[in-house]
Amino acid sequence: MNYQAILENIQEAMAPEFGKGRVADYIPALANVSPNKFGMAIQLIDGTQFKIGDANENFSIQSISKLFMLQLVMRNVGDMIWTKVGKEPSGDAFNSMVLLENEKGFPRNPFINAGAIVTTDMLMSNSKNAADQFKNYMRLISNNPSVDFDMDVAKSELGTAHVNFALAHFMKSHGVINNPIDALIDIYCKQCSMSMNCVDLATASLALANKGYSAICNDSVLSERNVKRINAVMLTCGTYDSVGSFAYRVGLPTKSGVGGGIVAIVPNVMAISVWSPELDRFGNSYVGTAALEMFTTITKLSIF
Ligand code: GLU
Repeated sequence: MNYQAILENIQEAMAPEFGKGRVADYIPALANVSPNKFGMAIQLIDGTQFKIGDANENFSIQSISKLFMLQLVMRNVGDMIWTKVGKEPSGDAFNSMVLLENEKGFPRNPFINAGAIVTTDMLMSNSKNAADQFKNYMRLISNNPSVDFDMDVAKSELGTAHVNFALAHFMKSHGVINNPIDALIDIYCKQCSMSMNCVDLATASLALANKGYSAICNDSVLSERNVKRINAVMLTCGTYDSVGSFAYRVGLPTKSGVGGGIVAIVPNVMAISVWSPELDRFGNSYVGTAALEMFTTITKLSIF
């Protein structure tokens, strides 16, 4: 398959899709990003890369960090993780409190904010410096020793993280959170601020496409069993409260973030990432979703 030509066709076809979504502005530093950015990168399991547009421009990975934090915690604590967080879609906004109250502080899944705050708390309990451990893991799997937190974005989010503080305090009142809330939300905001580009993200997701083995790291980053499980959670919980329509349109395990990035996995073939900052009403990249839909339509590489 001529992936480079396919990426070029998609980029051209996306022109009319700009202006239909809105750049996230609830974190002030995200509102400054230019809305017309578009990049895509493909990382085949043999290590071959293809890219287009702004694929080398860094952006804030936001919720995509939840995917990598989940991996790190599964590596550290194994199945214990599921005693503190579920694996069901929430059917609610990413930062919703509604279910959490009904379900006594037990978050539905690790990809909504409450669940991600729990996984970050678990890493803190198992690590002397959770922020550094997360950063080093991202550098390892992206094969890029320069990926780092964007401290302007982290500070901007920390200053407005009232709902995330509320979620953490509520869960602490139910005994779900072990560590001090201020330190926990500080690390959570840092992980969300991680600044990476489409090439970094496709590379970092490669193990999920290849039974845990990354040809770039030349190492088994994840067990085959965890890959099966993480891909399942991505498919069912990875794109906010639109997982059904996302699976219908794209048909791949996916994780998105409000920075406009999306990573998707074609099992046994590739990891693919796209970035375009305008979001649909659920928080997924508007153009990015359309681009991935076109990709699986042209290539017939949906898992279905
Ligand atoms: N840092 C964001 C928040 O907690 C992440 C949201 C997202 O990308 O879904 O609000």
